[in-house]
Amino acid sequence: TKIGIDAGGTLLKIAYVENDALYYRSFRSRDIDRAASWLTDHFENPAICVTGGKSHALAEKLNVPAKTVLEFDATTQGMTYLADQLNHPLGNDFLFVNVGTGTSIHYVHDGKQERVGGSGVGGGTLLGIGFLATDMQDYEKIIQAASEGNRENVDLKVKDIFDGSVPPISGDLTASNFGKTEILVEQPPSDPDILASIIGLVGEVIVTISSQLAVQYDADTIVYIGSSFRSNPLLQQIIEKYTRMIGKTPLFLENGEYSGAVGALLAT
Ligand code: ATP
Ligand code: MG
Repeated sequence: TKIGIDAGGTLLKIAYVENDALYYRSFRSRDIDRAASWLTDHFENPAICVTGGKSHALAEKLNVPAKTVLEFDATTQGMTYLADQLNHPLGNDFLFVNVGTGTSIHYVHDGKQERVGGSGVGGGTLLGIGFLATDMQDYEKIIQAASEGNRENVDLKVKDIFDGSVPPISGDLTASNFGKTEILVEQPPSDPDILASIIGLVGEVIVTISSQLAVQYDADTIVYIGSSFRSNPLLQQIIEKYTRMIGKTPLFLENGEYSGAVGALLAT
């Protein structure tokens, strides 16, 4: 069996082929021992290729030799393959944004990627600030709660400042994330409101950096991948809206969080 693994900072993603079909599976990176024993128990004679920051930590725990490949190249190969399979080829020229624990931004031209930017604001920021503000640790619970929250209780919009007069930019834009301080003091927001606003902050930082790079590199399409989009339509909507606002086309690739693992699989 051919197996590709992307051992990231938070999640370990596995892609493998059985009877000509592609399968996916993920573990928390802190459960790396469990992942290694699952791999050992589940496959006879595997051909394994690993990528990601925790490649070496994982390879050491396997009882078979594993090849390693460079993460950025594997991710590019994997996403190109996934997009082709979905009959949605990415073309010759695009930007991709990997929102993992942190965020990494790449420009792809003629199949070659170049890392053009990034930010420490990513999926880990949601989990970290989310925990500090609400004491919640479970990703699915955090996302679920956020979907019931209302950012209007926390974030200051342009129209809140331009009280009664016509603002020079859309009144619906965020003027200040977490900026409704006077109201926050009077009436503390609920945990769901805070979590929704954290997602807003993360999404708006990422889309601001990404869209400026798309303009700079003259790329029309921005492909967003990474497990941070898992079960998180709110993050997707924010990023989609702002990407369209600057006239670029956002693309959220199905199973995009497995791009690195698929790229590693292709390199076995
Ligand atoms: P990096 O590439 O930065 O090393 P990574 O590859 O581990 O990190 P991803 O797996 O793409 O990163 O995304 C991790 C993020 O996905 C988390 O920070 C969290 O916001 C989100 N996430 C989705 N599902 C889960 C889950 N089951 N447990 C924890 N985080 C999750
Ligand atoms: Mg990653």
